[in-house]
Amino acid sequence: MSSPKTPPSPRRRHIATDLVHAGREPAEQFGFVNTPIYRGSTVLYPTADDLANRRGRFSYGRRGTPTSLALESALKQITGGAGVVLTPSGLSAASVALLSVVKAGDHILMTDSVYEPTRHVCDTVLARLGVTTQYFDPLIGAGIAEMIRPATRLVYCEAPGSQTFEMGDIPAMVEAAHARDALVAIDNTWATSLGFDGHSHGVDLVIEAGTKYLGGHADVNLGFVSAAPSAWKSLQGTHGTLGQCAAAEDIFLALRGLRTLALRLQRHQASALEVCDWLAGRPEVSRILNPMLPTDPGHALFKRDFTGGCGLFSIVLKPAPREAVAAFLDALELFGMGYSWGGYESLAIPFDAKAYRTATSWQPEGPTLRFHIGLDEPADLIDDLERGFAAMANAASRPEGEP
Ligand SMILES: *Cc1c(COP(=O)(O)O)cnc(C)c1O
Repeated sequence: MSSPKTPPSPRRRHIATDLVHAGREPAEQFGFVNTPIYRGSTVLYPTADDLANRRGRFSYGRRGTPTSLALESALKQITGGAGVVLTPSGLSAASVALLSVVKAGDHILMTDSVYEPTRHVCDTVLARLGVTTQYFDPLIGAGIAEMIRPATRLVYCEAPGSQTFEMGDIPAMVEAAHARDALVAIDNTWATSLGFDGHSHGVDLVIEAGTKYLGGHADVNLGFVSAAPSAWKSLQGTHGTLGQCAAAEDIFLALRGLRTLALRLQRHQASALEVCDWLAGRPEVSRILNPMLPTDPGHALFKRDFTGGCGLFSIVLKPAPREAVAAFLDALELFGMGYSWGGYESLAIPFDAKAYRTATSWQPEGPTLRFHIGLDEPADLIDDLERGFAAMANAASRPEGEP
């Protein structure tokens, strides 16, 4: 409660400013602006007594270096968590987060539109350890309450969903889970903490593939998990016990990426919206799957809970032969074809989410493509897509059997 004697809480600095300053201690690096790459396993102790009492800021390379500490503390400031651990990939971040909360006999609930390799972790490794995973409709919202059993330890969300971009109601799921003593995790790779502040919405474990926008240049494999106080001790313990540590050079590159993250995300988002606007007017396009768009069924939740999005979205085409879609992709000159995303480059891939849905059925009316809009000028990307659609029309009109 505020009384006249309570000073007003200081205005929180803007995240763009935090991104510039977080995790930097130039005075400890001879005045150099950036923390360099510390490579090392052995850390020497000056005396036998220091060694015996493990006195020193660092004890062993796997357990942390000034480089990893710089990124952890920067990310902790950005996410507002009680602590952050770094992992060698986004998938390992998801695995460590899962392993930090479960024991044999536990039950977890997982969104049906989760990043597919995370589903594989649950269906193989966790199943082998006696942990049951049950998938839920990403749009379930407060209805998740009915699926929570006494053995349910965790509700794992991803919003919007991988490939198909359904928006879940995270606060409603958090409320239902916490009321029944279950924790909530989110894979927050799409929005990043700049676009969705997981902890302030009650999420216990916020997972992100730093491989994507944090690295930002398609040359890093990294993940991190930020934990609320409710999940920090066990996350920290499991991470250390399993010997997880990220590579020094990747951490350095992620620190570099962090400084420009806000700028890049703004541009990725604005360009994606421009391209979506153009795609919406194309006769070949049936639907755009992107909660940033006012026409998207998830837009109301996006507006309520998110402060930003990114350059990644999908489209459903009107029915078209496979060769026509291949001709579209092959004609693109600026969009590359390949997995991952979040770098400066634009990407296009076909996908089929039918194969790995179990709680819901995914029945698009035509072929589906996922785009990442990079830092190219959107007008040039639009020209490229126009070239693709021309090639697609050409391929579709060619009589069967003709080359
Ligand atoms: C790419 C991705 C991951 C995994 O990241 P890696 O670093 O490739 O292991 C996890 N979640 C989402 C949503 C992703 O897009």
